[in-house]
Amino acid sequence: MSRFFTNKHSTLTPYTPGEQPRDKKYIKLNTNESPFPPSPCAIQAASEAAKNLQLYPDPTYKALHEEIAAYHGLTPEEVLVTNGSDEILNFAFMAFCDKEHPAAFPNITYGFYSVFATLNHVPYTEIPLKPDFTVEPLDYKSTADTLFLANPNAPTGLALTVSEIEEIIKSNPNRVVVVDEAYIDFGGETVAPLVRKYDNLLVTRTFSKSRSMAGARLGYGIGCKALISDLNTVKYSTNPYNVNSMSAAAGLGVMKDEAYTEKNCRAIIEAREYAKAELKALGFEMTDSLGNFLFVRHPKIKGAKIYKALRKRGILVRHFNSILISEYNRITVGTMAEMQALTDALADIVKE
Ligand code: PMP
Repeated sequence: MSRFFTNKHSTLTPYTPGEQPRDKKYIKLNTNESPFPPSPCAIQAASEAAKNLQLYPDPTYKALHEEIAAYHGLTPEEVLVTNGSDEILNFAFMAFCDKEHPAAFPNITYGFYSVFATLNHVPYTEIPLKPDFTVEPLDYKSTADTLFLANPNAPTGLALTVSEIEEIIKSNPNRVVVVDEAYIDFGGETVAPLVRKYDNLLVTRTFSKSRSMAGARLGYGIGCKALISDLNTVKYSTNPYNVNSMSAAAGLGVMKDEAYTEKNCRAIIEAREYAKAELKALGFEMTDSLGNFLFVRHPKIKGAKIYKALRKRGILVRHFNSILISEYNRITVGTMAEMQALTDALADIVKE
């Protein structure tokens, strides 16, 4: 730390992203990326956009907002695109949380929520999950907090139903409920259709997972016009050109190729269910994940040991140091061939 780093950040522990090693070729199952390349339509659109990189992007992202709005049956004023969904989540903390509007989220969830809260000096409560890692909806009813719920949750992959979330939204009419649907395309039930019904609902989505564009950094939020207007105030006060032209174009491209995204999601779901069955046969225990990842432990082998043994065999998975989940590893679902390589490696490790 330099002598100049301000005290206001003295308690900030930054988010630790998953490894992106370049030293050798791993089977990369550690950051919930898609195993499939971006849609050819996205690549084509991004390279066209590259020809005009001397210009700033359209800060209103008109075409992309219209496309996303049409996808959800909304108007462009109910949509805001951001630099990854991380950015809209940070904007939500900036816009809707302060000392009088503290945040709350599960004690086991996406690790960035607590980092954004600390960065923005927002007090927060971490609400314990039940022992089976499910969220207890009653814990989120009639709170004094701005709520952040990943659905499906990460790293468990477990999801609440639409009616459970609707009850939470209804019972907190004076607080914003942010539903982070980063993994919704792999099996959960979306609450996006409730956006017009509740003025306190913000749904966030990403192009990083089902749409194979993690490197493009593109996400968005949908909510009522007033919420989106507040988020725009924050955006225009931080970075009006928050999404680069190539990513915005690629986003439009992939949205015009829905069949490609749907095919990839089906393949990932099939590989996930295959891997669940194979790992169970090897004695692993796991949540019934609806995400593009599994959350697994072995009753006889420590989580860290499995992580290291897989790494030695060229397979990267995510092991979290948190004491609550240190027996677990989160394993991204890749192609069927990658899942076969994973189960072969785990069969080996279990035998050792
Ligand atoms: N929400 C959840 C639950 C996530 O796991 C992630 C990515 N790891 C994000 C949001 C952010 O994704 P991105 O910024 O790539 O859109």
